[in-house]
Amino acid sequence: MPCVVALGGVLAAEVPAAAQGRWFKGNTHAHSLNSDGDVPVDEVVRWYRTHGYHFTFITEHEYFTDVAPLNALFAAANRFLVLAGQEVTQRVEDRSHPGGARQAHVNALGTNRLVLPLGERNLATGMSIAATFARNGQAIRDAGGIMQVNHPNFLWSVPLADMMDLPDSTLFELWNGHPIVYNLGGTDSTGHVMPSTEARWDSILSRGKLLFGVADDDSHSFRPEDAGNPDLARPGRGWIWVRADTLSPTAILDALRRGDFYSSTGIVLRDLRVSPGEYRLEITPAGDRRYLTEFIGHGGRVLATSTTLRPVYRITGNEGYVRARVSDSSGRMAWTQAVRVRR
Ligand SMILES: [Zn+2]
Ligand SMILES: [Zn+2]
Repeated sequence: MPCVVALGGVLAAEVPAAAQGRWFKGNTHAHSLNSDGDVPVDEVVRWYRTHGYHFTFITEHEYFTDVAPLNALFAAANRFLVLAGQEVTQRVEDRSHPGGARQAHVNALGTNRLVLPLGERNLATGMSIAATFARNGQAIRDAGGIMQVNHPNFLWSVPLADMMDLPDSTLFELWNGHPIVYNLGGTDSTGHVMPSTEARWDSILSRGKLLFGVADDDSHSFRPEDAGNPDLARPGRGWIWVRADTLSPTAILDALRRGDFYSSTGIVLRDLRVSPGEYRLEITPAGDRRYLTEFIGHGGRVLATSTTLRPVYRITGNEGYVRARVSDSSGRMAWTQAVRVRR
């Protein structure tokens, strides 16, 4: 009998209350005029409020947003909520890298105060990206929040090795909607291969470490006249569905901490359940779209595929971990969190 360690928090037998919760759609990365976005913060909030979201975090560069006035205007019980946070825009000196620095941005989600990055003008010297993740992660936890590692392929910045020491349950951007963060990876100008975010995830999971994959917007451009411009960081491209019993900061942050959410660029799941023997999804169909679910294990290997709306994978105990990736015939995606599997 395999023993399933549900660090993704979806083991129904262990967390029945959460598994019976409601799904809330949200975004964990948004900018306004308070940093380098192009509209006032209330317009950012209004966009998410009027486009079917239940929550958004506001994550300005080095600016902590007081969300109380925004919630006074926009919040509604179990329908919409603004959550506090920021982007910690850490850079790390590396003379061998184009521009002399690498970007080690992380989001602080649910924090109660500003967290400043290390170094003058955010430039840490004489330390690794991994060391800044450790320091900034601790500072974010000290401020009551959760760390999300952002866009590792932005300016070809974060070597995979620097993500290997992140603590279990750290969030990272598996899919960021900004057009120049290169989720699919590539080779940098010095010839180093920078893996896709999804390949990074499988490498890290295969080492036995459990990170939670997030899809978000990193939205900066909200002007209606720019709606059709693919070269701008528009809202509405990637999001998460979080399972919680109510729409409160505590409930959403707790669900993020236990990994009780999935990431999407358009596919909606009706249900998601893992028991000691099974990993089970239920897809909400849209029009005449067709769906492909791939169950993935150690080394990124595809363990099984299904084209039904209720794919089920029977866990054998040899997988190392199991996660699911769903794609539809129009290219939309959903990614569920991994569970570690041990015999
Ligand atoms: Zn960033
Ligand atoms: Zn950003």
